Amino acid sequence: MFLDMEGFRSLSKDDFRVLTIVEMGMRNHEIVPSKLVHRIASLRYGGTSKVLDNLHLHKLLHHDSSKYDGFRLTDLGYDYLAIKALVNRGVFVSVGNKIGEGKESEIFEVSREDGTVLAMKLHRLGRTSFRAVANQRDYLGHRTSYNWLYLSRLAATKEFAFMKALEEHGFPVPNAVDYNRHCVIMSLVQGYPLAQVKQMQNPEIVFERIIGLLVRLAEHGLIHCDYNEFNIMIDDDEKVTIIDFPQMVSVDHRNAQMYFDRDVECIFKFFHKRFSLSFQESPDDIDGSEVDMDENGRPYFSSIAKGPGFLDKELAASGFARKQIEGGVEKDADSGEESEDGAHSSELNESDISGVDSLHLGEQGWHGSDGSGLEQTLNCDDEKGIVEENQQNSEAGQTNGLETQDVSDKEEDNQTMNSKDIELTKRLKNQNRRVIASMRGGRKSLASRNTYKDKGRRSSHNSKIQKQLSNW
Ligand code: ADP
Ligand code: MG
Repeated sequence: MFLDMEGFRSLSKDDFRVLTIVEMGMRNHEIVPSKLVHRIASLRYGGTSKVLDNLHLHKLLHHDSSKYDGFRLTDLGYDYLAIKALVNRGVFVSVGNKIGEGKESEIFEVSREDGTVLAMKLHRLGRTSFRAVANQRDYLGHRTSYNWLYLSRLAATKEFAFMKALEEHGFPVPNAVDYNRHCVIMSLVQGYPLAQVKQMQNPEIVFERIIGLLVRLAEHGLIHCDYNEFNIMIDDDEKVTIIDFPQMVSVDHRNAQMYFDRDVECIFKFFHKRFSLSFQESPDDIDGSEVDMDENGRPYFSSIAKGPGFLDKELAASGFARKQIEGGVEKDADSGEESEDGAHSSELNESDISGVDSLHLGEQGWHGSDGSGLEQTLNCDDEKGIVEENQQNSEAGQTNGLETQDVSDKEEDNQTMNSKDIELTKRLKNQNRRVIASMRGGRKSLASRNTYKDKGRRSSHNSKIQKQLSNW
């Protein structure tokens, strides 16, 4: 199996531009109206129609005319956007075979220019698991039916951040190379998932190592939450590598104990069944950690000493909203409990999404915002204001469909942007900054003023944006 990259090289700059416009439109449209795409793309001589036909032909867009004429991105279209951004950044030059498929992801080999092979994980939340999305109904309010795009991106962002942090703390995890949208690039693990290993020289030693790593993770403030034979890789020397991190949570999570015990149980069950290990006696040593165990050798979560400088707190300080770490990205396995708490979910998810967006704004990868949290909140409000502003002033109830955050997103692909795009982005960002400044200064934002004079100003400001968009 391979990813259909046939059309990739033949796509033009306009193709990618229109693809990006559809992606941006999907922020607030399940199906992005063709009219809207035409208006924003404003290519000459029917250029947009040709581009849309070409993207449809390559299965990068799905056409829908059930309610009105429009398009949405396909998985492949979203893949191409992420791959394009990473190829432009020089992360890799070609995509090879599929090497793995998880519950909510596909993993491919990719090659660097020097021939080094890396692994590319494409997150596909909501595609194979409707339940995961259904349980997240409160996440995005009206965005319910198309939040696969956001959930997948959130999963990739988290996975990259966790992997990087774990690597820096000496855990045996793949090297986190880069990420974009729903796509994470990491080193290729030489080995096989534990699930495929039928025989082992030293199952006891491997077992102790695996449980030891689980305890050490908890000492660092984190619980894996999907710690099983599919997410533990093992090589010919029986060296262990842990993979698959988007669902990790902090030890402060309200269900931490349950997640920890469940992870422990998975490993105990697997080694008992596959290698007939019996656990009447406690393992001699759990990877150097001092931890109390029950009569069957299962470590007690409550006895794990949590050292200073927890990783969960470190991640929180690096721009992750606290709730992101505490909440994890739910997969099928642990979705039930979370979704019962609707209020919590909705709060968590809004912060998740704004967190992802601000992370994406950062040049240095996953260190995005200044971590103040305030900025995130303000940004979010500002954008709402500006969108409202645009909507109020748009003709005949039509909106231009663009949020300023969308424009910020486009920064990821700055290589594909022309100078007009950059100028537009700058202007919108500046405006954002002004609104933030005015809010910090205790003044009302432009969007919230309601005087006649201000309406006029809004209108002229809006027509400026419209003009810029039509030039774009
Ligand atoms: P999911 O989150 O969907 O479960 P995983 O990260 O567990 O996805 O990956 C699915 C499978 O892909 C793994 O079981 C493994 O076989 C393979 N895989 C994932 N990451 C790597 C990697 N870095 N190197 C080699 N194989 C990998
Ligand atoms: Mg997995």
